[in-house]
Amino acid sequence: RLPVLVCGVVLKQHPLQAISFVLDNSARKELEQRKDDFISMANHELKTPLTAVKLQIQLVRKRLEKHSQPEAATALARVEGPIKQLERLITELLDVSRMQAGSLEYRRERVDLDELLREVTATIHHLHPSHTILVCGSVRASLVGDRDRLGQVFTNLISNAIKYSPDAEAVEVDLSPSEDAVTVHVRDHGLGIPREQRDKIFERFYRVTDLRQRAIPGLGMGLYIVAEIVKHHEGTITVDSTVGKGSTFTVTLPLIHKP
Ligand code: ADP
Repeated sequence: RLPVLVCGVVLKQHPLQAISFVLDNSARKELEQRKDDFISMANHELKTPLTAVKLQIQLVRKRLEKHSQPEAATALARVEGPIKQLERLITELLDVSRMQAGSLEYRRERVDLDELLREVTATIHHLHPSHTILVCGSVRASLVGDRDRLGQVFTNLISNAIKYSPDAEAVEVDLSPSEDAVTVHVRDHGLGIPREQRDKIFERFYRVTDLRQRAIPGLGMGLYIVAEIVKHHEGTITVDSTVGKGSTFTVTLPLIHKP
């Protein structure tokens, strides 16, 4: 009776209402705990077999190369792309779950944005050598934040810019610092986004309904993750777009954000 009485007094509620408050609260806590357990279990259960498959593939590939069977080795190498894609999807699904549960942890370190952008664009260019990525505005701009997570923001935006430019038009990335913030534009000349769907693309699992966009694979998690990371760094993200002409995503991040 004591906790109910205490709640009843504190909340100035009818005791029955207080009982339901206590029950609601403990049910919610149990659900949150179960969610956290699910995320760490899923992390382990999904990633462990994938890591094992990757290791085995590497081993077999090396053996095939050693025994001069380059064709079989090349065939095996073709599996690596889809495996990487699966790995990325699992990581994104877990990121979304963690963000939803509020359990994603961010580091706080000095990040040289200019260097980070060059690193990200070099990696993406390596994967898509036929696409031109122009990086403009070489200025030193450092801020405090989580380097890997900020890298994920620009990797997603630049990868999308390439993905939704089916005719391989060039992508431009530019960096412009001001006194207390830094702005990055990621501009493409691809499909563009219809006006009425522009706000929705930052929602979880939302994909533009246009047929040409739908033909390009994706699950609608990337921009949700991007928006959450930017929000954590107290920044903003906006999009400007013309259908058939292309889109510009603008990220503004304050140089210092509170922990
Ligand atoms: P997806 O995995 O589907 O690409 P995102 O969350 O990254 O998921 O993007 C959500 C939707 O926004 C995409 O399905 C796509 O329709 C649209 N979109 C994102 N970036 C662009 C872009 N640069 N140009 C055109 N459409 C885009």
